[in-house]
Amino acid sequence: ERMVAGELQNEDSADELSLRPTNLSQYIGQQKVKDNLSIFIQAAKMRDEALDHVLLYGPPGLGKTTLAAIVANEMGVQFRSTSGPAIERSGDLAAILSSLEPGDVLFIDEVHRLPRAVEEVLYPAMEDFFIDIVIGSGPSARSVQIDLPPFTLVGATTRAGLLSAPLRDRFGVLSRLEFYNPNELCDIVERTSDIFETSITHEAALEVAGRSRGTPRIANRLLKRIRDISQVKGETEISLETTNEALKMLQVDDAGLDYTDHKLLHAIIDGFQGGPVGLDTIAATIGEESQTIEDVYEPYLLQIGFIQRTPRGRVVTSSAYEHFGLRKDNE
Ligand code: ATP
Repeated sequence: ERMVAGELQNEDSADELSLRPTNLSQYIGQQKVKDNLSIFIQAAKMRDEALDHVLLYGPPGLGKTTLAAIVANEMGVQFRSTSGPAIERSGDLAAILSSLEPGDVLFIDEVHRLPRAVEEVLYPAMEDFFIDIVIGSGPSARSVQIDLPPFTLVGATTRAGLLSAPLRDRFGVLSRLEFYNPNELCDIVERTSDIFETSITHEAALEVAGRSRGTPRIANRLLKRIRDISQVKGETEISLETTNEALKMLQVDDAGLDYTDHKLLHAIIDGFQGGPVGLDTIAATIGEESQTIEDVYEPYLLQIGFIQRTPRGRVVTSSAYEHFGLRKDNE
């Protein structure tokens, strides 16, 4: 498992709940998304209606689940959580939907991975709050309509484009979560250390922030490892020196890149003079799936400008060359 992966890992699980902010004012960053949601929430509460369905999209670990739970909390309703791959049959979804109370938030993570038949049950449920279920089979089968209470579906996905158009169109609010800047991540690191009842110097918190790939989950994970090392050293406060030492041990470089990023960038630099080179060729060279490169490895490298997408393929930029102490010849 990569230290710098945004996805939830086993070691994160123990602290997930205690680290989650519970209302909008504690949720650091994502100002635009928060401003929008806060207005929609207020308006829905004034009208005493369920909030419109919300689609949250963006890379893993940026706080989609956290935000969905906050929406429920701010609306004063129950939060129910499931995921696309967990709902295998239409009946599973029907059971969940018919157990909702008026106004409840149903969170579906990886909503793009709902089986097609299940997705079709969701359309009338989202639009007109009813489901049609088929009882029995063969000639005696009949369809029964079940009314649902008004509810809010909060869907999460890495890219909005992964959703089918009919599903995407049924969300009234589409919000894109962005990578966090180092100051926001620094606030998150300091907040997490407070919750852990440890102290960390401001410079050390900023250092962790700078290496966390814009992702709160990574920041929290790195902080936990650094805290262990600091504690073993007998420090009362996590220092910058220990932070640097720990990150070196964890093989996270000063831009937050690890072995996998180095492998990807070096494959393009060494094998293709820095590109342009097609995604499939890169995938074959490093033995990964194109989709994994696109969804998992690449977003952060694009974000920090180490890779560019061009019509002729991926190009490693001169800043990436500089990061490795190299010079790009053709520039
Ligand atoms: P995934 O889709 O992979 O589950 P996610 O986008 O749903 O990821 P969350 O589980 O919501 O991510 O967040 C990951 C962790 O980061 C949480 O434990 C939470 O404590 C922390 N976190 C996320 N966003 C914020 C924030 N804005 N302020 C403070 N902490 C945050």
